Amino acid sequence: MKYFIDTFGCQMNVRDSGEMADALREAGYEPAEAPGEADLILVNTCTVRQKAAHKGVSAVGRYVALKKENPKLVVGACGCYAQEAGERLLQEVRGVDIVAGPDAKGQIASLVEERRGTKKPVVATELHGSGGGASRDSPAPTSRRRTPAGPTALVTIMQGCDNYCSFCVVPYVRGPEVSRPPDEIVAEVRDLAAMGVREVTLLGQNVNSYGAGTGADFAALLDLVCAVSGIARVRFTTSHPKDLTERLAERFATLPALMPQIHLPVQSGSDTVLARMNRKHTRGDYLDKVTMLRRHRPGIAVTTDIIVGFPGETAGDFAATISLVREVVFDGAFSFKYSPRPGTAASRLDDDVPPDEKSRRLSVLQEILDRMAFERSRALVGAAVPVLVEGPARDPGTVFGRTPCNRVVNFVGNGHDIGAILEVDVNEALAHSLLGMPSPPR
Ligand code: SAH
Ligand code: SF4
Repeated sequence: MKYFIDTFGCQMNVRDSGEMADALREAGYEPAEAPGEADLILVNTCTVRQKAAHKGVSAVGRYVALKKENPKLVVGACGCYAQEAGERLLQEVRGVDIVAGPDAKGQIASLVEERRGTKKPVVATELHGSGGGASRDSPAPTSRRRTPAGPTALVTIMQGCDNYCSFCVVPYVRGPEVSRPPDEIVAEVRDLAAMGVREVTLLGQNVNSYGAGTGADFAALLDLVCAVSGIARVRFTTSHPKDLTERLAERFATLPALMPQIHLPVQSGSDTVLARMNRKHTRGDYLDKVTMLRRHRPGIAVTTDIIVGFPGETAGDFAATISLVREVVFDGAFSFKYSPRPGTAASRLDDDVPPDEKSRRLSVLQEILDRMAFERSRALVGAAVPVLVEGPARDPGTVFGRTPCNRVVNFVGNGHDIGAILEVDVNEALAHSLLGMPSPPR
């Protein structure tokens, strides 16, 4: 039996797909090279924006069409859109066999069996914290048996979100915030290090509130993870500005393994929009947090997420976003047109910025952000930077890795270098990556 998993959306989904793959291998499945060879195809869907949701559903439809050639094929829709749509997905894509939310990721093999046994489609969208015995204290179990794909690994430290930013569907499809105990996380990181992993990225919707209500906190967790022998680099994502403490900012100065890089979504530069977004931070708070980070770690790379065209966003509000961007000078950013999501508070507001105007604002913003990112890359040209080699790059005889500040560098190298941290001379900046040469031995 062979499986194929197609993943959409964020790193949390990437990690969940890895977990589904581990669970399937434990159940005796093997990975398929291509969807055409698989007996089971899973699409890990996203629903954060309408476009993302649509992409996942289209993929499910395409895979269901493969059943014409292979009637035994089982197709499952998993993840956040599956959670949101539930039974409705059976109508949206006729012929889909399994609809499973994020919390069902460990049970995929038994859902396939159920489908084969009952010959009826299976829907599994129970969420932790939604009653039925599960509670805040019992998150969906995270499997620890895993096979890392290379020298870097994603480690989930918490699930769900309690912030209810008014535009965001995540709390509805991922359930309430639940943190994993620190000892469990440290044990997972030790196992990964023993399997050759050199870099871990700690994942959560808002890692800064890790441990809330349990006595554990994120800064202390970082101390533990950075102390694991064999782990040379630690990153984390995502941070919510309202919960970013000085205690955490100090870690960027005291923990050499903590890479000088933070993803800190701001969403808007206008206080009135931020209030309507229920972000619980102001423009001033955000600028103060960036100053605090740079005080503790000069040169730290700051990236962000920005939404344009939120309900009621005026030309003045948008200008405030642009001025914030210029004031901060981001190393990189993801920016999006606002898209109403079902069930969210903002979906009840009038989506009054016309589509053309949303597109215009997005392109104005992206042009500035792209130029900024390129300038930040160019500043690295001529420098020698330590790069953790992650794998082969597209051109034969080249490999890629990341700088401490998380920029991708392509350079001449071979398979033996994977997992090594090499000094690389950066000699060219491209739009989204760098080119370099291994530094000559000194
Ligand atoms: N938990 C993370 C990421 C959430 S989703 C965080 O708090 O940052 C990733 C990004 O998608 C968000 O930061 C936001 O910029 C964007 N996003 C979320 N909902 C959106 C919507 N309805 N329309 C447009 N962009 C959205
Ligand atoms: Fe969504 Fe806000 Fe939670 Fe991030 S913090 S997942 S944007 S509700």
